[in-house]
Amino acid sequence: MQDCNSCGKCCVKYSNGDLSASDQDIDMWELFKPDIAAYVKKGMIWFSPQSGKQLSLCPFLREAKNPEQPDKSHYTCDIYYDRPEDCRFYPVTVKQMINDECEMLQQGDLLNPQQAQKDLDKLLEDSRPSFD
Ligand code: SF4
Ligand code: SF4
Repeated sequence: MQDCNSCGKCCVKYSNGDLSASDQDIDMWELFKPDIAAYVKKGMIWFSPQSGKQLSLCPFLREAKNPEQPDKSHYTCDIYYDRPEDCRFYPVTVKQMINDECEMLQQGDLLNPQQAQKDLDKLLEDSRPSFD
């Protein structure tokens, strides 16, 4: 299991209606981050403040250049420290990572998924509870 390499696959895959924010996230945005709250509609994310329609991509996802891998897409999150709960919790399981082709996975993780889940929970212990 390696650190996230910012390949962006998870943001691209889930941000068109498959992400949720907690009530606490939304309360915090409404109080302190109105620029983020503007993209919430009836407790759901991410909606255009202008048209009110569901966006096909998270408005806070930015493509960036990685000088070490100029041919590969690399993404950053404009609201990393204020991102919604689903984003803080991802990835939850090794099975999900396999389905999503998450690039944190390494060959050894596929051979021993139980250990890989433990390693994942340890890596993410500062951003979410353990799910094992
Ligand atoms: S809020 Fe950040 S982590 Fe979540 S989908 Fe958008 S860019 Fe990705
Ligand atoms: S798919 Fe995995 S490696 Fe890629 S950005 Fe998401 S968490 Fe990071």
